[in-house]
Amino acid sequence: METGQKKERTYPRRLPTVSFDGVEYFMDERLHEFRAVLNVHHRVDFQSGAGAAMVDAFYLIDCPHCNQELCVFWWTIKDSVVCTGCGKDVPISRE
Ligand SMILES: [Zn+2]
Repeated sequence: METGQKKERTYPRRLPTVSFDGVEYFMDERLHEFRAVLNVHHRVDFQSGAGAAMVDAFYLIDCPHCNQELCVFWWTIKDSVVCTGCGKDVPISRE
């Protein structure tokens, strides 16, 4: 008989997401592109002008609770971001 349930996960963890102009994108470093969360056909290549500007706009931090990568905009005035993986507040450290 076939097994109806698969326990293993396809991804070790979720891709970080980042919002630009009200559109939320996955940041896929493997494919070097942003993909709109709600429309995977909407892609922005890192090498394109718009994509490069998006990459430059934020940096990645790891959630200390669940290891999810989180995007933090350089210009943010917040002290923390909410983890997209576990929902906890993750403090932003600045040099
Ligand atoms: Zn987390």
